[in-house]
Amino acid sequence: MNIGFIGLGIMGRPMAKNLLKAGYALTIFDKFAKFDDLVSLGARAGISNKDVAAQSDVIITMLPNSPHVKEAVLGQDGVLDGAKVGTILVDMSSIAPGASQEICAAVKEKGLVMLDAPVSGGEPKAIEGTLAVMVGGDTNAFETVRPILEKMGSSVVHVGEIGAGNVTKLANQIIVALNIAAVSEAFVLATKAGVNPESVFNAIKGGLAGSTVMNAKVPMILDGNFKPGFRIDLHIKDLQNALDTAHALNVPVPLTANIMETMQALKNDDLGTSDHSAIVRYYEKLARIEVRR
Ligand code: NAD
Repeated sequence: MNIGFIGLGIMGRPMAKNLLKAGYALTIFDKFAKFDDLVSLGARAGISNKDVAAQSDVIITMLPNSPHVKEAVLGQDGVLDGAKVGTILVDMSSIAPGASQEICAAVKEKGLVMLDAPVSGGEPKAIEGTLAVMVGGDTNAFETVRPILEKMGSSVVHVGEIGAGNVTKLANQIIVALNIAAVSEAFVLATKAGVNPESVFNAIKGGLAGSTVMNAKVPMILDGNFKPGFRIDLHIKDLQNALDTAHALNVPVPLTANIMETMQALKNDDLGTSDHSAIVRYYEKLARIEVRR
């Protein structure tokens, strides 16, 4: 089976590497990033999204947001211009659920099948091949690509119709953002009260407050290491998609609105390209203290 991979950024690059390691034939393309390293590992260099599509039975996209996926799939020299009837398009980007449904309807008219399959776990789990993958769309297509997804993720779950993957991802992103905010507020308080934050971490990480988020982000905070990882700008994008989706359904999401404004303030402080663990900087600024080792 020939696989096409479009979007070789922080996440796409290690995910594509894992497919190469598993022995899949890969044709790859990115509009802006270089990908010579993957070509030297055996991938074929595509010259456009259309070219990738023409070489592939399954096409994976890993792009920033809805407009990028629309451009790559439906735009000039895009996937639809090159793909054969019966090709399965697996969009693993985190985009608006409504956009997944629109793109699915457009590709269906040309005889393609689409799944939305966003991921959680960030760069470390993309490298390990242990992402959580949440998939929406046709169940037969899901069973066909499941072995491919299992090379990138340790948890691959079908959650419903097209768009359901991205609804699940929005829920994930709300929980992650608010979890980092809660950890940040609590660690700023503990530090200002004179307790070593590393000791606080060691004392509570095994209890009810412990979480995957705490284990991943507190060590970064203690080191003052805000290298992305997952950029605040991308999390703002996800929260905007969450707010739009919630409001279209008449669901008030007050906590999401609150953390969105925190992230807007961090962007104003030039932290948009920092990892989302830099949410702590907002709380540090309020209390005039830093949570460090
Ligand atoms: P990224 O910006 O590092 O990579 C995106 C890549 O897409 C870039 O290399 C860019 O050049 C390319 N691109 C943009 N438009 C294109 C087009 N029209 N055609 C071809 N290539 C194009 O982003 P990322 O961090 O890899 O994230 C990708 C997706 O995964 C996003 O939706 C993000 O929200 C999601 N995600 C990211 C993380 C993380 O920790 N970084 C974790 C989970 C999910």
